[in-house]
Amino acid sequence: MDFKITLLPGDGIGPEVVGEAVRVLEVIAAKYKHAFNFQERLMGGCSIDKYGSSLTDETLADCKSADAVLLGAVGGPKWDDPAAKDRPERGLLALRKGLGVFANLRPVKVHPALIDSSPLKPEKLKGVDIIVMRELTGGLYFGQPKLREMRDGREYAVDTLEYYDYEVKRIVELAFNLAKGRRKKVTSVDKANVLEASRLWRQITTKIGKENTDIELEHMLVDTASMKLITAPASFDVVVTENMFGDILTDEASVLAGSMGMLPSASLGESGPGLYEPIHGSAPDIAGKGIANPAGTILSSAMLLRYSLKLEGEAAAIEKAVDEVITAGVRTADIGGKLTTRQMTDEIIKKL
Ligand code: NAD
Repeated sequence: MDFKITLLPGDGIGPEVVGEAVRVLEVIAAKYKHAFNFQERLMGGCSIDKYGSSLTDETLADCKSADAVLLGAVGGPKWDDPAAKDRPERGLLALRKGLGVFANLRPVKVHPALIDSSPLKPEKLKGVDIIVMRELTGGLYFGQPKLREMRDGREYAVDTLEYYDYEVKRIVELAFNLAKGRRKKVTSVDKANVLEASRLWRQITTKIGKENTDIELEHMLVDTASMKLITAPASFDVVVTENMFGDILTDEASVLAGSMGMLPSASLGESGPGLYEPIHGSAPDIAGKGIANPAGTILSSAMLLRYSLKLEGEAAAIEKAVDEVITAGVRTADIGGKLTTRQMTDEIIKKL
């Protein structure tokens, strides 16, 4: 089959890890007789440098017309000036909004061979297999008003946490659907004891829970959830939550797996292309050294095959190959080894 994939390597280690994922996808294409047509575009700091904009209209249009988008990472010290009129992160938010990808899925599984890379006690990590679903296009990061001004001679800033019922409904329904194919438990995280938007979130989630009695629904306050993710991570299956809570909890959950470099993510909407990216940033401290762990991006490309191209067998083949090399002790520096980005990918490709 023929597919169009837009690549947005971005900044820092982004191009290094996306390049490796493309090598893996090319092996898959040859083995399973598909044609992946890659088109590479600038996004983030590199796009500010070249076009004066972190995401141009043309790049967004190329993403929208693709079957899927694979992103590396954006940002870095060069573009960190808070007073700058455009920042790499703005491009990322505009891309998510533009593609209408409202659900960010981050699977967190602890590989038995990497248990010692995690700061948590090994006995806490047994059986950890979580998918955190973060609402991505609403909530505190997008709500209006959002401004900064002088009021009564004082500096004043405001952000707004807002949700419409349909925004909550579509992501919670997705969480229930996902849980049906897993351990049949949904934990909905909110702050309903304080926030009105959370009370709406909980009301809608409770209603969906009543329509899906085969799924166990648990409501949890975000403060409790942040504690339980560390003290009892194996008790979670699918976790669904608001944009900012999800931003924080997903990074916390990533610590369970030992290294940020190992974890993939997928951002999905109701229709149109999905956006796939590793959870880590542009890692300016190691950029250009060729030592970044490519696994998070390679596993993101597996999610791309599964969710956007519906190639489940091909996705599972990549996941199995990554699993096997980790079991065999193949390691980049972040997980205690000495291999380069390219050597780690070579080992994964050998398993394919
Ligand atoms: P980071 O994820 O880039 O790096 C955190 C630490 O993890 C660093 O020590 C880095 O070397 C290490 N690391 C990250 N990915 C790795 C990999 N694949 N292999 C080995 N080690 C890896 O986070 P940061 O340092 O807070 O942010 C750096 C820049 O990235 C900032 O400009 C930030 O805004 C940006 N950022 C972008 C995204 C994104 O594009 N989605 C996400 C987070 C941060």
